[in-house]
Parts: sequence; C-alpha cells; structure tokens
Amino acid sequence: MITILFGPPGGGKGTQAAHITERFGLPHVSTGEMLRKEADKGTELGNEVAPIMAEGRLVPDDLIVRVIEVRLAEPDAARGVLLDGFPRTVSQADSLDRMLGKSGRRVDLVLCLDVPEQVLVDRLLGRAREEGRADDNLDTIQTRLTVYRRDTAPVLDHYRNSGVRVETVDGDASVEEVTRRIYKAMDRVAGSRA
Ligand code: AMP
Repeated sequence: MITILFGPPGGGKGTQAAHITERFGLPHVSTGEMLRKEADKGTELGNEVAPIMAEGRLVPDDLIVRVIEVRLAEPDAARGVLLDGFPRTVSQADSLDRMLGKSGRRVDLVLCLDVPEQVLVDRLLGRAREEGRADDNLDTIQTRLTVYRRDTAPVLDHYRNSGVRVETVDGDASVEEVTRRIYKAMDRVAGSRA
C-alpha cells in the first residue's frame, strides 16, 4: 500500500509516521529526514539543499524527485511505503504518479492531518526549543506555512480529482488519540480494499 502522510509543518507527520510504520510494517520514507542526513554528512546534495531548508523554502522538484525515485527502487519499498513530506507540489505529485505507473502502481491513500495554524506555530516553536532544528524559528516557520498553503495544499485536490482516497484526520489532539484516529482511517481503507 502506498500511503502519503500529508499535512502542514508541525502537523505531527514524523511522530505519527513512526507509529504507523511500526504497526503496518511499511518503510517510512521522509524526504525531510533524508535531506537532513545529506546535509549533516556534507555531501554535494546536502550542501546544495542546506541553505534552502534553513530558509524554509522547498528544494527544486527535479532534485527531490530523483531522490524519491532512487528510494522507491530499493527492495524494501516493493510492498509499499509511507511517504512523509513528499509530494509537496502538484508537479511532484505528477512525477510520483508517472513513476508508480511504470510499475502498475498508484497512490492508495492520502492521510491528511488537519491542525489549526496557531497550534502549528506553538508546536514548531516548542520543537525549536527541544530539538534545535535549524528551520524551527519564527521567520522560517512563517515561510514554511506560507509555502504549505500556496504550493503544497493544492496536492490534496490533485489526488481528490484523480480519484485517490483522501482521509482527513483531526490532528489537534494527543499523540495517542491522533494515532488511534489514523489506525481507524487506515483500517477502513484496508477493509474496503479486501
Ligand atoms: P520536513 O522535515 O518534511 O519538514 O522537511 C524539511 C525541509 O526539507 C523542507 O522545509 C524543505 O526545505 C525540504 N523538503 C523536504 N521534502 C521536500 C519536498 N518533497 N520538496 C521540496 N523540499 C522538501
């Protein structure tokens, strides 16, 4: 099953992805994590993306699409994956559809975490204090939320219009409660596919 965990920065995607992958045994493919690792290692790719990430902007579509293409070709991705942070533009979604189409696959489910903007800002500022992520400061947070509204949110309509199931989960609750809501949504979808 190819599932996209969708939602704004600070929406809880990373936290919830860890629970979902454990329960469903799917590899967690987080483009943000992959890029942060490259940046930490100081690879050519990492050095290219680090300043873009630090400003809260999106790295170029062709670059991230190449990264995902390599990752999805790895053997553990054959059974399915949980995508976190990708696709983030309609153009990336188009590329993903084409990529999957080559092997007769498609996106099965988009799980969208819905969280009010003020809660997002509070959570991201909290994460800045706890984890010290370079892109968790007020300026960058505002940029990331603007980018989300402008470039990423339209990806939901892309999938709705192409008949992909989109399940919205209210993400403004405790981690455990949101996990429970996600499992319920995924079980519903798995049940209707059986
Ligand atoms: P995340 O951990 O998903 O919040 O991603 C952190 C940062 O990595 C983003 O703010 C972007 O700069 C970059 N990034 C991650 N995924 C993508 C993507 N699919 N397209 C473009 N940039 C991305």
